[in-house]
Amino acid sequence: MIKPETNKTKNSQEDLTLIANMLQCPFCLARIQIQEQTVRCTQCNNTYPVYQGVPLFARAGSADSWGQTREQLTSESYQQNYQEVQDAQDYNLKYQKYFLKRLSTKREYRLLNQLLSRQGHCATMLDLPCGGGRLSPQLAPFTDLLIEADIAVGQILYGKANSHVPARRIWMTASAFHIPFQNSSIDAIVCIRLCHHLPMPTERERLLGELLRVARKFVIISFFDYHSFKNTLRRMRSCLRHKKPKNTMTIQQIGEIARKNGGELVTYPSLSIIGSRPSLCIDCKKMIQAEIQIFACNSSVKLVDSTLRFFYPETFLKQEDETLIWEQNIQDVEAIIKVYRHRSFLARWREKTFQFRVERELEALSMLYQTNIPTSQPLFWGYGNCTQFGRIEALATRKIPNTISLKEFLQKVDKKTDLLKLEILFQHIRQMHEVGIYHGALSPRNILVTATPATLPTFYIIDMAQSILFSKSITGKKFAWHDLLHIARGLKFYCSISTFLLC
Ligand SMILES: [Zn+2]
Repeated sequence: MIKPETNKTKNSQEDLTLIANMLQCPFCLARIQIQEQTVRCTQCNNTYPVYQGVPLFARAGSADSWGQTREQLTSESYQQNYQEVQDAQDYNLKYQKYFLKRLSTKREYRLLNQLLSRQGHCATMLDLPCGGGRLSPQLAPFTDLLIEADIAVGQILYGKANSHVPARRIWMTASAFHIPFQNSSIDAIVCIRLCHHLPMPTERERLLGELLRVARKFVIISFFDYHSFKNTLRRMRSCLRHKKPKNTMTIQQIGEIARKNGGELVTYPSLSIIGSRPSLCIDCKKMIQAEIQIFACNSSVKLVDSTLRFFYPETFLKQEDETLIWEQNIQDVEAIIKVYRHRSFLARWREKTFQFRVERELEALSMLYQTNIPTSQPLFWGYGNCTQFGRIEALATRKIPNTISLKEFLQKVDKKTDLLKLEILFQHIRQMHEVGIYHGALSPRNILVTATPATLPTFYIIDMAQSILFSKSITGKKFAWHDLLHIARGLKFYCSISTFLLC
């Protein structure tokens, strides 16, 4: 957690080291090293000057700087604006002076508030282009650390001196075509009033691509809608007067670019009907970029493709170094997704040769399911590579509604009267052993219970990651005793030995 700091006007060394491991060289994409007084690329040895406490990462240029052919129109002259503080001041004062600009700012504030309230609180947020910090007071409450970047150093210096918010801030210059941050390193990026200044579609596509590359959770971007009222009028007039068309985009175009870059369009409220230029604000949710190849698929979920993409969830049910669990709706089926992440090359090779961990798990769950032992119905498993999580394996199961873990259940039951209900669980365990399944991690955490007061509880055996399948019954064998010992240890505070003897 980053502590908020008020009225901070200078980037200190400490601030920069806070984001040091997120930074990357805008030229060669290598790591950046922050030493005393200098910021240097570890690979191409480029040094980045620090001017009045602001590191200058801005890399000017257009399409040819990211390996595409140069076009006639570029935004390079626009990039030269507001390098002087005086120009930046004149620009920013216009927003206070003119009624229409004040009105559109007000609407922008309201929309941003709505969009950001829907997302969870962020650890890091990038405002690019931040201009003179016009939006900072709106963004600050939603993040621990606000990074303000603009291509014009004049804007940054003006913003540093004139905007004060109760959040920790870091300033820098940066180009939105070459954002000096690593892939998925910043929770959220807000990019207001830039897209409509970019004359060529390649530049607009590059912008959204870069924003989605760096964002971990979501991107908010404004653009000038081709179908807006204002643009329709303009198009009608331009037929007569041959005026240059505006830098517009359609929602479909944005949706396609987003999908290509691992994003998904969530909502696009209208920013203004007739007022200012950017007429729509897009909230783009970052997906977990994973090309999961589906191998086994239960008949109840018919996936159209053999690959599946995941959403970055609002909350995880479990978030550990190795394992992530979250809920996701897959073709109207409420599913629980379990992902093993950062699998090593060796593990991937070994499992490809023999059997994947999730494949084993799905097999065990399927066997339980077919023998009518209550469990979470397995849907599919797959593996793939993911920008955020490296080599991953995924298992999807159907969500069992209204369940709690046995651990929670036991804390609620009345020891004297409710104990016998556990007998049903032990019957299931015996059945499981009879068909030759060793669970391997049979703790009260891995058993779910639906508890409705009027009926007997149903116990679901889940989480078969450690299981072994045998060809015949293991009842009375060492493996079965090991499972029983495991569950007995978990239950020892809740039941007497007689419960076990019953089994
Ligand atoms: Zn470099």
